[in-house]
Amino acid sequence: MRGAILVLSGPSGAGKSTIISASSEAIGSYYFSISTTTRKPREGEVDGVDYHFVSKEQFEEDIKSGNFLEYATVHNNYYGTSLLPVRNALDENKLVIFDIDIQGHRLVRAKLGDIITSAFITPPTLRELETRLRSRSSDKEDIITQRVENAKDEIKAIGEYDFMIINDDIEKASKEFTLVANSARLKHSQIDLNSFIDEWLVG
Ligand code: ADP
Ligand code: 5GP
Repeated sequence: MRGAILVLSGPSGAGKSTIISASSEAIGSYYFSISTTTRKPREGEVDGVDYHFVSKEQFEEDIKSGNFLEYATVHNNYYGTSLLPVRNALDENKLVIFDIDIQGHRLVRAKLGDIITSAFITPPTLRELETRLRSRSSDKEDIITQRVENAKDEIKAIGEYDFMIINDDIEKASKEFTLVANSARLKHSQIDLNSFIDEWLVG
């Protein structure tokens, strides 16, 4: 594998999707890993674009078949990253972007180590997160409460990430995200370095 992986985490409603779309022209070609989930689609979400929406049974089949690079239970639903498309994109030397939770970040970091760059995205305060979840008006009140509660724990993992982006002003956050994406591309994994050294010595 030669490409690079950029892992983005942050509470639901932090602005991860908004930042990725706002920066998509500036960061050049990349592959966004479309996760699989057992959560029901929100209004406007499209199967195969936002997520692969599957049943619990289908998800558990995929776990058994070893199809996931990582998976976790978040807000009482399964979410997972399929291994095959990621492997293909890395073989094509692409920057692969994951939007996964803090458990997923830990699993991917443990498996793939230093080819990963990670960034935690958060609104400036918990109160602002709540306001944004409400303004998105895609979730019911009990779901919003659950996401806000979850965010109180998620924020404690911020120190595990290479970068943190405070999404206050969207333009500023998108510029910072573009810098992070470009540094992810420039980062060399130990595997790359070892083959570079071998070739350098005999070249
Ligand atoms: P995530 O992908 O992290 O769950 P979204 O990108 O869906 O979050 O953003 C959640 C809501 O907050 C959306 O309604 C979005 O338009 C809004 N939003 C995102 N960034 C900002 C910002 N900087 N200021 C105000 N609202 C924002
Ligand atoms: P949402 O339901 O708001 O789309 O996502 C809820 C949470 O699940 C977010 O924190 C998001 O980053 C996380 N998530 C989305 N896809 C994956 C995945 O494939 N694996 C893991 N571990 N978390 C995911």
